[in-house]
Amino acid sequence: MDAKQLQSYKQHSTLLSQFIVRLSAFYEGLSDDLDKELQTLRGHLSGTPNFTLATVSINKLNRALQSQEITVKKYNADAIARLEKSIKVLQKVVFENEALKQNATKQLITLHQPVGDLFSIYPLFQQALDLHHSALTGQFPDALNTPTTADNADPANPLYKSILEELNQLLDSYAQKMPNDVKLLDIKNKLSSGMDEDELLKSCVIVLRMIVQDAMSEASLTGKVIQSLHNSLAKVGNEIQVSMEDSRSQFKQRQAGNAVLQSHIETIEEAVNHSESFDTLKEQTQYCVQNIAQTLNQQIQADTAGQEQLMNLLGSMQSRIEQLQQQTNIYKKKLAEQLSLSQTDPLTRLPNRQAYNDKLSKAFQKWQDTSEDLAVAIIDIDHFKSINDRFGHAAGDKTLQVVGRHLKQHLSKDAFIARWGGEEFVLLLPRNTMKEVKDGLEKMRQALSELPFKFKQEKVTITASFGASLFKKGDTPEQVFDRADNYLYQAKREGRNQVVTD
Ligand code: GH3
Ligand code: MG
Ligand code: MG
Repeated sequence: MDAKQLQSYKQHSTLLSQFIVRLSAFYEGLSDDLDKELQTLRGHLSGTPNFTLATVSINKLNRALQSQEITVKKYNADAIARLEKSIKVLQKVVFENEALKQNATKQLITLHQPVGDLFSIYPLFQQALDLHHSALTGQFPDALNTPTTADNADPANPLYKSILEELNQLLDSYAQKMPNDVKLLDIKNKLSSGMDEDELLKSCVIVLRMIVQDAMSEASLTGKVIQSLHNSLAKVGNEIQVSMEDSRSQFKQRQAGNAVLQSHIETIEEAVNHSESFDTLKEQTQYCVQNIAQTLNQQIQADTAGQEQLMNLLGSMQSRIEQLQQQTNIYKKKLAEQLSLSQTDPLTRLPNRQAYNDKLSKAFQKWQDTSEDLAVAIIDIDHFKSINDRFGHAAGDKTLQVVGRHLKQHLSKDAFIARWGGEEFVLLLPRNTMKEVKDGLEKMRQALSELPFKFKQEKVTITASFGASLFKKGDTPEQVFDRADNYLYQAKREGRNQVVTD
């Protein structure tokens, strides 16, 4: 090794020693054992480095670090699990404070992201502490509003909200079909206590699976009906085939019979022309007439049998056709039931959102074609949550049924009502000016507030807020709905139990 190489080697090893000394100082505080060994290593490398002793120390550290890495990971996972648990508890306690609930959900989502190292856990602890602090003091520091990477799981996000609502509606209709399904009950409970993105996704998958299963059993029903129609038709086809073959052979028999008759008649003619004596003629004629009578008799018998066969065939075809008709009717009825079930809200028996969307697209088309007035109104029961809280969910359900019925009774016959979801209803009101719409809704509101509700011996007044808007030139259905929704919120802001329109 020449002097230059030696010089460079020395420089590198000094640099490396310095680096190891600094790095080891940085990691001090992880555990006592590691600290001690790091100190020893720093001793070997400071001043004039002793690489032999340093190597022994590095080997020891290597082993210690390996086991330490596992402990740190486990520590991270434990800490995250604990954080998650405490925030979920908090979420249940603060469920009435929407802002805190949203923040707790945001943090739960952040906790679901992979946490790489020890240091990134500290801000999470910090946020959780802030959250608990604001829950305790009722104050709300800005630091809580840390952005999350999963923006679409923000409960204020309209997409997240609408997925939640759709899921709720689907659950309602499935709960009707399968009231004791554990998975459904579980999802329903989770929905009411707030879901993070992960849980929402899992729940969607479960519900989707149910829908597919349902659709498959429907499909197999359809398959069975078609198979049975097919079988019946095949049987009728066979019978017609047999009957045609019979007719063909009967036709041949008849032709053969005719030929026999023809030859007997010819024989008689011959006899008449050439007989020398009356007796021979008589004898020959008698013989022929007997044969003719016999052949005719055979033909009559064959005809009667053929006719009988034909009657049987017609009879059996008729009964098969009746069978087919019955099966088709059952199937048609089932399809109609299915369609109406998929368009009906199971709780209030009113049309559901799907039915509203179908109706809306037809009404919108008509409005575009005729420019006849068309209004959308949204109705939201006031403080409905408190009915559930004070008198139980069953009382809430009953209220929804009564209110739904009441609203429907107050509508003209060409108006349309649907349950939009939760405690909200939506109306389509054709051929009414804004004034007529407003007056109609006003009457409806007034009458609702006078309905005598009574829960647990307590008289309760139920009111609702209304928002309505007319379609105007160039409007899309969404724009009209949004306007009505904004009016509804204005009605809520201005004290509830009122109608706000264009
Ligand atoms: P606001 O006057 O602002 O409209 O207050 P609110 O309490 O009516 O509105 P909020 O949106 O806070 O609560 C609506 C509640 O309706 C929450 C939900 O649990 C309840 N809810 C939704 N669907 C049903 C249902 O099918 N049955 C019952 N019993 N409750 C329901
Ligand atoms: Mg509402
Ligand atoms: Mg409400």
